[in-house]
Amino acid sequence: RVVYEHRAGFGRIHSGGKVPLGLKRKGLRIVVTGGAGFVGSHLVDRLINRGDSVIVVDNFFTGRKENLMHHFGNPRFELIRHDVVEPILLEVDQIYHLACPASPVHYKFNPVKTIKTNVVGTLNMLGLAKRVGARFLLTSTSEVYGDPLQHPQVETYWGNVNPIGVRSCYDEGKRTAETLAMDYHRGAGVEVRIARIFNTYGPRMCIDDGRVVSNFVAQALRKEPMTVYGDGKQTRSFQYVSDLVEGLMRLMEGEHVGPFNLGNPGEFTMLELAQVVQETIDPNAKIEFRPNTEDDPHKRKPDISKAKELLGWEPSIPLRKGLPLMVSDFRQRIFGDHKDTIT
Ligand code: NAD
Ligand code: UDP
Ligand code: UDP
Repeated sequence: RVVYEHRAGFGRIHSGGKVPLGLKRKGLRIVVTGGAGFVGSHLVDRLINRGDSVIVVDNFFTGRKENLMHHFGNPRFELIRHDVVEPILLEVDQIYHLACPASPVHYKFNPVKTIKTNVVGTLNMLGLAKRVGARFLLTSTSEVYGDPLQHPQVETYWGNVNPIGVRSCYDEGKRTAETLAMDYHRGAGVEVRIARIFNTYGPRMCIDDGRVVSNFVAQALRKEPMTVYGDGKQTRSFQYVSDLVEGLMRLMEGEHVGPFNLGNPGEFTMLELAQVVQETIDPNAKIEFRPNTEDDPHKRKPDISKAKELLGWEPSIPLRKGLPLMVSDFRQRIFGDHKDTIT
């Protein structure tokens, strides 16, 4: 969807994708909630580079200004410290709604706040989308499938989720967020898009957020043993962040509501992941077994046929290619080594 009109106030012309003669593509006005975080900041980079104007709304719970500092001073970039649990008035064309802690350590820290962010925060952003006629994209999660009884997971699978467990604030919260998005779509005609994101890694992840890739990489760099939870035979499928951002943008610009799985189908056990980290950082890195956390899903792998067919999207960066890019960033942040900086 492209806007061509010179804007006085809040006017828009939709051209159905064709550039009318004599008019140049105008940038869109886009809100990215959670834009100071890991995925959000990479998305903001792409949108700003494309020529759009971006307003980041973030309460800095897990996000960092450092992730966005390279845009400070750009007139097309604004950063607002705001909690999405509170209403906000903005005039925009698109809303990428990412605000929500994503790592289990962070979302379990204050579970009620996590639910409020997912439910009230998403309600507010949908209310905003409805008021200004903006398109709204929800970043949901593979966790909506819970501990899946179907493998790999297809979008039509309804999931196997514990409603009263320690992860429920996140996975049930995201399920409710999906419900809200669909009800605003059906009931109020809001153009919504739903992405179900599978485990994603890359530069700018919080170093100590407790997720497995960030833990193993930081541990191996610090010469500490890599902590494998349980027997290490549980699986995850790891997606490099630039592949995800490409998928999110295709979903937003396309005509399909979703939900769409966005993930890399390459599936690894945690022990295999530890081995890849050894190959990448330190062949002598040790492994230490720890008890697993409650309700840990045994396996997870996306079926991405739908995204391939309808969005023309599939990931292009395998784990062994993406991991070194993340390692350079972590090395620089942990040791202040300015070689190999990834921005
Ligand atoms: P992140 O923690 O790095 O980013 C989340 C951002 O949201 C942070 O900047 C944080 O400060 C902000 N935030 C949290 N609560 C907020 C609130 N109440 N108001 C305003 N801002 C708030 O996490 P991420 O990995 O970048 O995840 C981004 C989105 O993608 C999340 O919605 C997450 O659920 C989803 N997702 C991520 C993954 C993954 O593997 N990274 C997987 C599935 C889904
Ligand atoms: N909302 C917001 N910004 C807006 C419009 C709405 O934050 O520009 C919030 C609003 O405060 C409300 C929520 O979004 O809490 C849902 O709005 P909606 O208009 O759908 O419902 P209502 O206000 O009628 O309950
Ligand atoms: N995990 C691990 N060691 C760690 C952190 C996590 O073995 O230091 C395991 C965890 O038990 C889970 C998998 O890695 O089985 C992925 O965990 P993560 O928190 O990264 O993501 P999620 O569980 O949300 O998929």
